[in-house]
Amino acid sequence: MKEQQSFVTAPDGVRLAVFEWGARSADTTVVLVHGYPDSHVVWRPIAEQLAERHHVVAYDVRGAGASDAPRRVSSYTLATLEADLGAVLQQVSPERPVHLVGHDWGSIQSWESVTGTALADRIASFTSVSGPCLDHVGQWFRSKLRRPSPRALGQLAWQSVHSWYIGYFHLPLLPPLLWRTAMVKAWPALLHAIEGVPRGSGAPTFPTDAVRGLALYRANMIPRLSRPRHRPTEIPVQVVLPQKDLYVTPSMAGQAPQPYVDRLWRRPLRAGHWAPLTHDAVLANWIDEFVTHIEGGPTAPALQRAEVNRPQQDGEQKEHAGKLVIVTGAGSGIGRATALAFAEAGAAVIAADLNAESAARTAHLASLLGAPRTGSYAVDVSDPAAMEDFAKAVAEEHGTPDVVVNNAGIGLGGAFLDTQTSDWDAVLGVNLMGVVHGCRLFGAMMKDHGNGGHIVNIASAAAYLPSRTLSAYATSKAAVLMLSECLRAELSDDGIGVSAVCPGFVNTAIAKATRYVGVSSSEQEKLRGKADRLYRMRNLPPERVADAVLRAVRENRPVVPVAAEARIGRALSRLSPGTLRAIARADLTPR
Ligand code: NAD
Repeated sequence: MKEQQSFVTAPDGVRLAVFEWGARSADTTVVLVHGYPDSHVVWRPIAEQLAERHHVVAYDVRGAGASDAPRRVSSYTLATLEADLGAVLQQVSPERPVHLVGHDWGSIQSWESVTGTALADRIASFTSVSGPCLDHVGQWFRSKLRRPSPRALGQLAWQSVHSWYIGYFHLPLLPPLLWRTAMVKAWPALLHAIEGVPRGSGAPTFPTDAVRGLALYRANMIPRLSRPRHRPTEIPVQVVLPQKDLYVTPSMAGQAPQPYVDRLWRRPLRAGHWAPLTHDAVLANWIDEFVTHIEGGPTAPALQRAEVNRPQQDGEQKEHAGKLVIVTGAGSGIGRATALAFAEAGAAVIAADLNAESAARTAHLASLLGAPRTGSYAVDVSDPAAMEDFAKAVAEEHGTPDVVVNNAGIGLGGAFLDTQTSDWDAVLGVNLMGVVHGCRLFGAMMKDHGNGGHIVNIASAAAYLPSRTLSAYATSKAAVLMLSECLRAELSDDGIGVSAVCPGFVNTAIAKATRYVGVSSSEQEKLRGKADRLYRMRNLPPERVADAVLRAVRENRPVVPVAAEARIGRALSRLSPGTLRAIARADLTPR
């Protein structure tokens, strides 16, 4: 997307470089204000994505990029920066209020306008990323000191530790010297190593920006923090809270504005301080969702859940209130019990099954149990194209899931040498590839969304209990167990938990649906009947597994064996695998 450059002159004569993307005729204008030590370049990836729907503007703040850099520190006060923003707005959107977005110092300086009177009617909404209002911070510090509980003092100490650099930036000589020497190479390398910022994505004008921008700290920090003003606002504010921010703690950035902002949305993001460069797609999406909502368009479910001070709906205090949960194989047994348990816990539930009617029935029962929203889909989990369509439909109709339970599975019994290739295809297709498709499609959605989540894969005790009559089934479940362990390691940095649940003998329809190879169809019916009787005698209800699934999510457990036989088997697989090998040789097929 083409970037157009022009200049604006601020009231004190400073020339500011302005950059625009997308059509000026678009219904909405989004103005992006960068931080320190950056230029408008930090916004490029986000601007290009937003420009598909909005007129997007970024400008180099005075002292940075192609804008003028006055020498005096007093030329960088928040009031001067607000006058700069006013001049930019006058040029790029003289008639309509804009949606303002700020990162780091861009956010700090934008709060000045959001909480002031000069530009209040020119701003339709504000998205703040890693840059609090200095007055709110000053008040937050004072309120903690007025009520010095151990928790309050801990939060103060934690934020103070993260703010060490503010004192350092006030030192004479050393900061500019280091920016011009060691930090020229070290800073981009540090950002890459610590935050994963792509190499070469920084502003070409760094380190000059870094040296000149020190004036931002020197002109504003001490006066604003030591004499904080009362700064309320009626402008709707979305605060993005990067959870791994090394400079602005999420507790402070999330709490400080609350007493002063009438309409506040808080959105935790699994990212570091430079989220615009590492999580551009998520941020572009969140900005777009917020702008769309404020302009009167549809409200994304995740945004709705993020609103603070919203009157609570019935049942919202429940454990999974506000969550979206997907369960495959939800038409029967463990899947249905799990879907209903999440519904009772307040979640919106999507039931998917090969059988459309049974999925719809589960969705209906879930709504009777209090699920605020339900959906049902007929999907064959072993069909990659059908799973892609399913994931797309869920994304469009319900948003990104918080929990995905890959449960659909089928049984297969009999000797390995009687098992045909087609039998392997069938059992691996559903039990393994069904889980793979679910993890791949929904895992990617969760990761892109940046809000964490949980994937539960229903494996089996057969995953670690070898058996001469269950080779294909046990192999498929062992693969699910290992997939879950690997994926858990891969997704942990994104705040996505992965659990494998290993039930044991559970009284469901599976015994009657299991196929046996190497026997006649009448013999198969007999085996099914006998197995079913044994499962009934064991009488472990699927609700027990559903409880284990909720526990796995709550406690982020890696592997959860459920029934006593599953727990004992797991212990033996570690302590005495020889015993299990001996048991594996017994033919336990019910005869
Ligand atoms: P179940 O037969 O009662 O339910 C399985 C559900 O999955 C059914 O509704 C079925 O229609 C659906 N399904 C089957 N193939 C599908 C496909 N290709 N696409 C979408 N849906 C499909 O069985 P259950 O006991 O509730 O089993 C659920 C899971 O638990 C399975 O993965 C199973 O292997 C596992 N498990 C069950 C037991 C047990 O003793 N019941 C023990 C260990 C593990």
